[in-house]
Amino acid sequence: MASLMRYLPNSLSNKLTATYFKLSTLSQLGFRGTHSSQSTIDLDKMKIHILPALTDNYMYLIVDEKTKQAAVVDPVAPETVLQAVNAHGVNLTKVLTTHHHWDHAGGNEDLVKKCKNSLDVFGGDDRIGAMTTKVKHGDKFKIGDIDVECIFTPCHTSGHICYYLTTTSGSEVETPPVVFTGDTLFIAGCGRFFEGTADEMYSALIEKLSKLPDETRVFCGHEYTQQNLRFAKFVESENADIDAKIEWAARMRGKGEPTVPSTIGEEKRINPFMRVNEAAVQSHANCGQDPRKTMQIIRKEKDSF
Ligand SMILES: [Zn+2]
Repeated sequence: MASLMRYLPNSLSNKLTATYFKLSTLSQLGFRGTHSSQSTIDLDKMKIHILPALTDNYMYLIVDEKTKQAAVVDPVAPETVLQAVNAHGVNLTKVLTTHHHWDHAGGNEDLVKKCKNSLDVFGGDDRIGAMTTKVKHGDKFKIGDIDVECIFTPCHTSGHICYYLTTTSGSEVETPPVVFTGDTLFIAGCGRFFEGTADEMYSALIEKLSKLPDETRVFCGHEYTQQNLRFAKFVESENADIDAKIEWAARMRGKGEPTVPSTIGEEKRINPFMRVNEAAVQSHANCGQDPRKTMQIIRKEKDSF
């Protein structure tokens, strides 16, 4: 449903949303309302609560363990976010919006209203509802003691921002860092080029996200992993890391568990769009040794895969 709705005019998608949220209250009566179980990734100084929403979206509640300050990424389902905030006893102060699409930014205004306008809403695009702080590449802010850096990754949308989080002890950067990639980088895939070019996605994936430490945890905007891996296997049939990830993802999805996070290092081994400089991927695209052209060809191929 989320993928359908981002093509609809706002008025219509809002009506559908209302219907969806009415249906979603059924889940409180025992109906299964989301695509995956909620789970928590404990990274010592920060906790990431994975909050599934709609049919395949992920929201993330980030908690700084020392101060209990919290931020939420793409809160399309505000009630679910507030339930998690209460359950974990944290102080929600910030919204990190990756991009303006309805299934990511569509809950901002309602959440801000429910929190009595106490939230600072970050984003990189004037189309994002309730935005209070417009950020650009390299901008920094904090969630308690967690450092956040904004990475500008236009292509899926022209104002897309990824958020890179680290914690430090003295002057030492503690591992592992975390990156929220919205609809730019998925596990084993990337977002459609709605408002940008292959060159821009090359810059986002290869020149920016690939340069993050390999152990960086990748939290993306959708549970698309299994579909993406099928395409990855089609591009690189001989890649054993892809085979192993396919088996692992089937086990996780079989239990209704999310496949996030992966790591930047893992994406470099399994994700065809992170591997456009590899001979095997270039040979599949059959356009010589041009990684940007390879990016363009395999994305076009994936669009109708
Ligand atoms: Zn999107």
